[in-house]
Amino acid sequence: MTPSLEPHKINIAIDGHASTGKSTTAKELAKRLGYVYVDTGAMYRAMTLWALENGWIGPDFLDKEALIASLDRVDIRFRFNPATGKSETFLNGINVEDQIRRPGIADYVSRVAEIPEVRRKLVEIQQQIAREKGVIMDGRDIGTVVMPNAELKIFMTASPEIRAERRFRELREKGMDVDYEEILRNVRERDRIDSTRKASPLRKAGDARLLDNSQLSPQEQYDIIMNWVKEVLREKGGI
Ligand code: C5P
Repeated sequence: MTPSLEPHKINIAIDGHASTGKSTTAKELAKRLGYVYVDTGAMYRAMTLWALENGWIGPDFLDKEALIASLDRVDIRFRFNPATGKSETFLNGINVEDQIRRPGIADYVSRVAEIPEVRRKLVEIQQQIAREKGVIMDGRDIGTVVMPNAELKIFMTASPEIRAERRFRELREKGMDVDYEEILRNVRERDRIDSTRKASPLRKAGDARLLDNSQLSPQEQYDIIMNWVKEVLREKGGI
C-alpha cells in the first residue's frame, strides 16, 4: 500500500483560567497549522445571551428550569466569514459574535456554564467537531472531558492581576468604557465558579503541559507552544 502523503493531524486541547490568552494562542496555531479552531467559551457565551434575551437570568436570579426546557430550541454554531477570515458565532441563525464579547455576558456566563444539561448539549456538539482530526479547541474542560484523547494538552494560567490588566487594555482598545477593578473582580469570580462547580470543574488534566505566561511575551509563549506541537507531531510521524 502507498503510504499516505497527507500529514498526520493531531488534536490540541487548550484549557486554563479566564483571560489567559487561550483563544489568541489557539487562533494563531490554527492558522499556522491549517487546523480548525473551536472557541467553546463562545458557545457558553451564546447560551448566556439566549438566557438574557429571554429574561431567565439577572443579577440575583436564574431560571434554570426554563433554560433547560428551551435547550431543544437553541441552535449554536460557527460559520466561517471569508471577508474577515474568521469564524463567527451564530445563535439561532443570527450572528452574535460581537454581542457575546461584551462584559454584560462575562458577568453571567459562569453561572450558565455550571448547569449540567447545558454542558451536556454543548459538549456533544464539540465532540462531534473533534471527530475529525486537526482541531484546536480552547475552554475549561477540553483536556479532561471534551477531548480526553487529544495528542497535545496545554493548561494556561497567569496571575489574576496580569490577566485583568490585559483584558482591560483589550476592551479599552475596542472603545469600551471599562473599569480595571471590575474586570479583576470578574476574572477572580469566574475562576472561582469555574474551578469549584460540580459539573466538569476547571482543572489541569494529568497529562496537560502547564504554561504560566505571567512573565512571557506573546512571542516567547508562541515559541514554547510551537516547540511542543513539533515534538508531538514528530512522535506521531506528522513532520
Ligand atoms: O473562554 P471564555 O472566557 O470565553 O469562556 C467564558 C466562560 O464559559 C468561562 O468563564 C466558563 O464559565 C465557561 N466555559 C466553560 N467550559 C468551556 C468553555 C467556557 O465552562 N469549555
